Amino acid sequence: MDYLREIEGKRLHDRNPNEKMMMKSSRCVCVSGPIIVGAGPSGLAAAACLKVKGVRSVVLERSHCIASLWQLKTYDRLRLHLPKQFCELPLMPFPEGFPTYPTKQQFIQYLEAYARKFDINPSFNQSVVSAEYDQVLGLWRVRTVGLKKEETEYVCPGLIVATGENAEPVVPDIEGMKDFGGDILHTSLYKKGGDFGGKRVLVVGCGNSGMEVCLDLCNHNASPTLVVRDTVHVLPREMLGKSTFGLSMWLLKWLPMRLVDGFLLIVSRLLLGDTARYGLHRPQMGPLQLKNLSGKTPVLDVGTLAKIKAGDIKVSPGIQRLRPLSAEFVNGKTEKFDAIILATGYKSNVPSWLKEKEMFSVKDGLPKRPFPNGWKGESGLYAVGFTKRGLLGASMDAKSIADDIEMCWKAESKHFSYFARPSSLQS
Ligand SMILES: Cc1cc2nc3c(=O)[nH]c(=O)nc-3n(C[C@H](O)[C@H](O)[C@H](O)COP(=O)(O)OP(=O)(O)OC[C@H]3O[C@@H](n4cnc5c(N)ncnc54)[C@H](O)[C@@H]3O)c2cc1C
Repeated sequence: MDYLREIEGKRLHDRNPNEKMMMKSSRCVCVSGPIIVGAGPSGLAAAACLKVKGVRSVVLERSHCIASLWQLKTYDRLRLHLPKQFCELPLMPFPEGFPTYPTKQQFIQYLEAYARKFDINPSFNQSVVSAEYDQVLGLWRVRTVGLKKEETEYVCPGLIVATGENAEPVVPDIEGMKDFGGDILHTSLYKKGGDFGGKRVLVVGCGNSGMEVCLDLCNHNASPTLVVRDTVHVLPREMLGKSTFGLSMWLLKWLPMRLVDGFLLIVSRLLLGDTARYGLHRPQMGPLQLKNLSGKTPVLDVGTLAKIKAGDIKVSPGIQRLRPLSAEFVNGKTEKFDAIILATGYKSNVPSWLKEKEMFSVKDGLPKRPFPNGWKGESGLYAVGFTKRGLLGASMDAKSIADDIEMCWKAESKHFSYFARPSSLQS
């Protein structure tokens, strides 16, 4: 344990006096297995896949619960957007009685049962603030800050990034935002339409969340206006008695993507009509090709379009600027609103804490190598859940990572027996 004392001494030496005063306490923990950052579905999947291979990991989570995105940052009416068979994690199917599109609560129940089944016990309230590979030690140093600002440094041979594509809300800077005067909130804080009954609400962003929030508002006696700045593919959630996603996956086994896109667009036109008539213009490129190239997900309609057609949800072009309790649009029109909901998406937070430039792009915090090769970096660095392919992509990553770690670590098992395992911390 001599080298550990050396680490501790160096860390204290490196700090300036102010930093030392701010630190509540600092400890160093050596871990014999990999550290997984994030206890969302991806982190849980990676921990479970490793567990069944006999590799114990430590899961660090900034929040006080697993799946914090689902538990704390999603609206009440949310259901899985895709059928359950495309959303289950490795090694454990959904319970038989679950509907095709499980509710948010059912999905959370499933994840809690998953963590119990594989005995995954994350260290909660541990925000990872930096992670760096120490070339001299040949190990990763991962620094966390707890609720009372207490610091911990973990030293480990592998690092699995599972902080998600949705770690931080994206809040656009709209001219005049400060003058608006009414509530402006991101969808991560939106819970239910009932909170906006009788109000005129401007919903910015026409992805799945923006469209669904509009429907929820409408069903709760609010008057939503949807801002549609870009082109968007709206597809029916189901076609020919099958889920659109499932049918697309099946067709892709036999036909080129271009033809499957053509098929999806024809059936969508038959079932939904010409969405451009309602202000929802389609991109030039087909929905699957666009998803493949840019990651932009098509909207799966759950009833919003019917409300738009009926005039219960208005569609407006981009915002020019906000004024007190009103918005001026790029077409020159101005309308009054009581509140604004920003359905403007999320971004990765990896560049803010991972000190590494090869694997992850500093620009968007996603792996630079495209799917399916983005899960593995150098020196025991891995990424799970950054494929822009939802839970299905996360499951694929988790399995690949566990296979790789099992293979590499068996070969290097001598090296890892060097560490004393703090069993209380390891899943
Ligand atoms: C509204 C909504 C609906 C969706 N519906 C579907 C769907 O139906 N099907 C589908 O496949 N996908 C869906 N998705 C995509 C979604 O991203 C995945 O379902 C899933 O949540 C991704 O899991 P994850 O573990 O990668 O990320 P997350 O669920 O975001 O989990 C990441 C975890 O990392 C933690 N974390 C972040 N930074 C740090 C840090 N520095 N230190 C410690 N911990 C940290 C977070 O607190 C969080 O708990 C949906 C997304 C949204 C927003």
